[in-house]
Amino acid sequence: MTDNLFDRALERLDEAARFLNVDADVIEKLKYPQETTKARLVVRMDDGSRRSFLAWRCRYDDTRGPTKGGIRYHPDASAEEAETLAFWMTFKCAVMNLPYGGGKGAVKVDPRKLSKAELERLSRSYMQAFARVIGPERDIPAPDVYTNAMIMGWMADEYNKIVDRNEPGVITGKPIALGGSLGRNDATARGGFYLVRHLAKDLNLDGPARVVIQGFGNAGQYMAELMAGDGHKIIAVSDSEGAVYDENGLDVTALIKAKNAGQRVSAFAAENGLKAISGDELLEIESDVLVPAALEDMIHRHNADKIKTRVIVELANGPITPEADEILNKKGIVVLPDILANAGGVTVSYFEWVQNRQGYAWDLEEIHARLLKIVEREGRAIWNIAQKNKTSVRTAAYVHALARLAEAIEAHGTQDFFADY
Ligand code: NAD
Repeated sequence: MTDNLFDRALERLDEAARFLNVDADVIEKLKYPQETTKARLVVRMDDGSRRSFLAWRCRYDDTRGPTKGGIRYHPDASAEEAETLAFWMTFKCAVMNLPYGGGKGAVKVDPRKLSKAELERLSRSYMQAFARVIGPERDIPAPDVYTNAMIMGWMADEYNKIVDRNEPGVITGKPIALGGSLGRNDATARGGFYLVRHLAKDLNLDGPARVVIQGFGNAGQYMAELMAGDGHKIIAVSDSEGAVYDENGLDVTALIKAKNAGQRVSAFAAENGLKAISGDELLEIESDVLVPAALEDMIHRHNADKIKTRVIVELANGPITPEADEILNKKGIVVLPDILANAGGVTVSYFEWVQNRQGYAWDLEEIHARLLKIVEREGRAIWNIAQKNKTSVRTAAYVHALARLAEAIEAHGTQDFFADY
């Protein structure tokens, strides 16, 4: 088993290919990123000095449409991580049948150490460096870890200056006032929530579930709110510095308020007389639903065996290593995989892009109804593939996506077609 994130992602492709009769051309096309651009962003700091930051934009495959994927700001960001995330985006867009390929961007930076003005200069500088590869019909970024609507707004503004016209469809996840879509904020969590609700009977989740959430940012907070609103009990949540646990159920509204005021969840625990536990202990709590909503590789071969839940909903990208996946499968824990469970985000990003191109904004009801329809349609199709082939839901999701990618790649002609001439 390789330790390389990208190689591990490719193992999912090989696994899915075993269930389909795809042409060798398809695998050849999908096993390498199409284009990865690297730049050094040189930014003026508030103290007058200049600092440089490494940055990337990967367009993994654009056979099914312009590439689409977020931009991440993180001190551990790397080209390999951006390429892996772009690979996942390629499959995620195919899972939901969106007319997109996959892309991803990153800057190696700890944004918490920058002032707001430095963050704006860095974000504008990212767009200056990558405007050549980005565009509403070429490659469309969005927010990811430690980037947000305001950052997308700065980047869109910078792009508009460069091309000398207003192109709101160049980036999604923008503030509403700058052409963002209603419903984008909670879309990732809402997609996961709709999926769990739709499959509840199949997953034997009748009645209120005990829910544990790892990572309490955008995805985690909205998931807590939606699940609690539907009668489930959020019994533990964590952030990067600790976790809080209450078997009777946490007050989600108070917790979100505290978190958004800058308080850590462990400090919230102390202030409210609740039990503070470590992030590792959080994974060992007995629950019905566990929601990883932080970063990659959080569930691995050393902790997978200790997990005591029934269903895992991957709102984070790649939170479970393949070895951990095997352990969880053996334990009978059902994993609803990232490329399906968190695809609500890119789906509403797609709605934003469509609205920008139409010049017409949809209301929230329409957005929720369209998202629900896609999540239920693709979720059911994948569930059925898993049942029919007796595979994990993850493998089924890859099979579902690969069938669509293969059809598009093969439509340009395969070896059989060309060898005839
Ligand atoms: P975010 O930056 O808003 O939140 C991330 C959270 O994870 C923060 O609360 C942080 O404290 C926490 N965290 C970091 N390290 C942790 C650790 N070791 N243990 C516990 N918590 C930890 O990011 P987000 O947008 O919510 O994204 C979270 C995950 O969801 C990422 O994997 C991202 O790729 C994925 N995702 C997000 C979206 C989206 O629309 N936001 C869409 C698809 C996938």
